[in-house]
Amino acid sequence: MAKKKEVCSFCGRPMPQMFQGDQALICAECIEAGHKMVQQMIATDAKMQKMDGLDLQNLPKPEQIKQFLDQFVIGQDSAKQYLSVAVYNHYKRLLQNQSKDEQYKDVEIEKSNIIMVGSTGTGKTLMARTIAKMLSVPFTIVDATVLTEAGYVGEDVESLLVRLLQEANYDVEKAEKGIVFIDEIDKIARKSDNPSITRDVSGEGVQQGLLKLLEGSVVNVPPQGGRKHPEQEFIHVNTQNILFICGGAFDGIERKIAQRLNTQVVGFDAQQKQAIDKNDLLKYIAPQDLKSFGLIPEIIGRLPILTYLQPLDKEALRRILVEPKNAITKQYQKLLAMDGVKLTFTDEALDYIVDKAIEYKVGARGLRALVESIMMDYMFRVPSEHLTTLEITKAIAEEQLTKADRLKLQNAV
Ligand code: ADP
Repeated sequence: MAKKKEVCSFCGRPMPQMFQGDQALICAECIEAGHKMVQQMIATDAKMQKMDGLDLQNLPKPEQIKQFLDQFVIGQDSAKQYLSVAVYNHYKRLLQNQSKDEQYKDVEIEKSNIIMVGSTGTGKTLMARTIAKMLSVPFTIVDATVLTEAGYVGEDVESLLVRLLQEANYDVEKAEKGIVFIDEIDKIARKSDNPSITRDVSGEGVQQGLLKLLEGSVVNVPPQGGRKHPEQEFIHVNTQNILFICGGAFDGIERKIAQRLNTQVVGFDAQQKQAIDKNDLLKYIAPQDLKSFGLIPEIIGRLPILTYLQPLDKEALRRILVEPKNAITKQYQKLLAMDGVKLTFTDEALDYIVDKAIEYKVGARGLRALVESIMMDYMFRVPSEHLTTLEITKAIAEEQLTKADRLKLQNAV
């Protein structure tokens, strides 16, 4: 009789590499999957412990938070400052019961959600991701474009809380102290400034749904996030203490700002009109511009802190190439150092890359694609070429970029 084929006791597949235990067999793949799960649990536990240890004495101060952001995000001082203060206040609000001051016993610190406005590629998501690294509360980033009104194809607004719950290891109490970053909030603007006559399932309807979360209420969250299992029990999450940070490009909002400034200023204060910096209209952004863009007033009212990100000029792009802790040039230096090669870029080469990013209108996001195109040939050849140094000059950068398909580059970003 042929020997019965042995299968892994966990995945049930006949695998080439198996390990025998007392009662069971396990394959190499299941061991690896198990190892990953344990690692994840250890990491989450460590994060949770940090959160439990939160107390007024050892809170990171806003200046420290900003200094941390400075290591990764270039410029954008105003947004960084707002964000640092908001995170610090969020901690303080969570710890307000620890305050010994009798005088303010009955004063309740309420949360101040934030909205950041800035063109695409100026660092909004980067800032959110960076701050996530240092937080000791659950934090998640969600994209508003996937949200639709309940009952339509797409995700319900409650799905944002599912992600937060996952981050908090399904500890509801911890999730209720978390921070949610909602990216691309501008994409759920209603399509015209007038209240809709027809259904607007991905715009105003979502805003109404979101309002419920921003206001602070107890929300029923399906544990798996989907609507496929109507019989499943809901988890009740109170959003009162969850801080919401929203970000969006609000393309074309400058026009609304300019219109408002013009009407405000005409015949009233001509001097002020002269002082307006036309190249950076975003810095004059006010809540009513968000309304003209299509956010409903109730949502705007729930996002009381409004800040903006500056467009990145030549100097900022140049700094982004080399300064952040994980700047793209540093990443290539590290890659080649692993082959024993010391990589350098001349100043002219860096200037050239920045000029190209401006010429192709690809901004900071395009810097990576440009450097990648320049380095491609070298990354292929250098590991087998026993070099010890490699200097990227402007001539090399030019030659490599000309070789690379420009169109492809433009489409890639
Ligand atoms: P958005 O504002 O559209 O969310 P991102 O934060 O996703 O833009 O930026 C895209 C990429 O561009 C980032 O991953 C980063 O590499 C780079 N970048 C953009 N702005 C900055 C900045 N201020 N400092 C450093 N890098 C930046």
